[in-house]
Amino acid sequence: MNKYLTEVLVKVRLDNPHEPEFIQAVEEVLVSISEFISDNTKYLENGLLERIVEPEKVFLFRVPWIDRDGKVQVNKGYRVQFNSAIGPYKGGLRFHPTVNLSILKFLGFEQTFKNALTGLNLGGGKGGSNFDPSGKTDDEIMRFVQSFAIELSKHIGANIDVPAGDIGVGGREIGFLFGQYKRLRDEFSGVLTGKGLTHGGSLVRTEATGYGVVYMLTNVLEHFEETIVGKRVLVSGSGNVALYTIEKLIELGAKALTVSDSKGTLYFKNGITKELLEEIKELKFVKRGRLSEFKNKTGIEYIESKSPWDIKADIAIPCATENEISEEDAKTLVNNNVRYVLEGANMPTTSEGYEVFRKNNIVFVPGKAANAGGVAVSGLEMAQNSQRESWSFENVDMKLKSIMKNIHTQMVENGTTGSNVDYVKGANIAGFRKVADAMMAQGVV
Ligand code: NDP
Repeated sequence: MNKYLTEVLVKVRLDNPHEPEFIQAVEEVLVSISEFISDNTKYLENGLLERIVEPEKVFLFRVPWIDRDGKVQVNKGYRVQFNSAIGPYKGGLRFHPTVNLSILKFLGFEQTFKNALTGLNLGGGKGGSNFDPSGKTDDEIMRFVQSFAIELSKHIGANIDVPAGDIGVGGREIGFLFGQYKRLRDEFSGVLTGKGLTHGGSLVRTEATGYGVVYMLTNVLEHFEETIVGKRVLVSGSGNVALYTIEKLIELGAKALTVSDSKGTLYFKNGITKELLEEIKELKFVKRGRLSEFKNKTGIEYIESKSPWDIKADIAIPCATENEISEEDAKTLVNNNVRYVLEGANMPTTSEGYEVFRKNNIVFVPGKAANAGGVAVSGLEMAQNSQRESWSFENVDMKLKSIMKNIHTQMVENGTTGSNVDYVKGANIAGFRKVADAMMAQGVV
């Protein structure tokens, strides 16, 4: 790696000793842009690299709320405003017991480059809480969210920072946040995205991340002169990203074989049908149940405490959470002839797993490109809110397709050597360039 970048990485390690996920994300980006930086030394000036790896602002706050038994509970609330060089901070909120500063800084850092790839004017941010929504009543969720919003509302705004959903934060939570923000600020504005259609949401936002992943897949397959029809696909997770990825896979003629949650995997030997997908959606989005409830259906195997990675397939799309593909999982996928891996989740592949894919020439598309469809449509939601307009489903979907195609083109342009496309390098260079150029033009801030 370039000597200067190595020094920056050493400093990041020293300054953030308890933040392994953040260090992992920074290292991945610095390694893959190293050669580019050596050829473009202007990016070594004015402490640009030291600044780009440091969040602009981080807010940490107490979130007290009262549970159904009248007992006071206290959680930590966070907002990381990572980079505003190309637009207002933008990125989701995650409610999950594993949330900590390392996770949110890695997500905010990745978000900065992802948002740049969309071609929209969006900076990078991320936030959330170690609050665990599972098993909570709607009232408990509302009380928690309202308390969280009291502090968060001081730091966000339609032209400042526009949060959205992520793990554990969907339409219900965004609705409660929006209502409380409006009440606190007396302002009906596009301060959050992923809103319901009744109060300024955009068509296609719910489906956007999953649909976008599959649009990216079609671009990749086309590049390698292959088609999606009949491809056997492993999908992990059973949340927003996973289920809309599966919906689009089915629509385009691929066979989605699996869904999973933190307790196990469901394997559908003949592929998930539209009807089964509707049942899973009902279970996960309405009843908020566990996949194990599908255990006794015919043709479906429930594999307890396991992820989907040892099932034979052509393509893997991890859509659950970070570091869900270990080195061993990656070896199994390679041995089973999986040839394409697209990250629906953020950084679902460990560094060791990625090394296995790289050495075996697996076509690997990183999350910051593959799952950028969600934030892209969030950007379109912001545009509609500013114009007080609502665009049709077809219009937004067409724009989403075109954004995903454009991201693919940028990766090919920046990541091709001979006939080989390194999508990780392509995504990192293209995203970095846009953010870095804007930062350089704005002086040392
Ligand atoms: P959801 O909360 O809707 O679903 C998350 C899914 O992942 C659930 O099935 C959950 O299972 C599973 N999961 C969560 N944590 C773990 C874990 N530690 N081990 C195993 N399974 C786990 O989240 P999303 O679908 O919104 O997000 C999924 C991923 O996609 C995240 O990495 C997120 O950052 C990323 N992403 C999301 C976007 C969006 O628009 N929503 C946009 C871009 C990226 P269980 O119910 O058992 O917890």
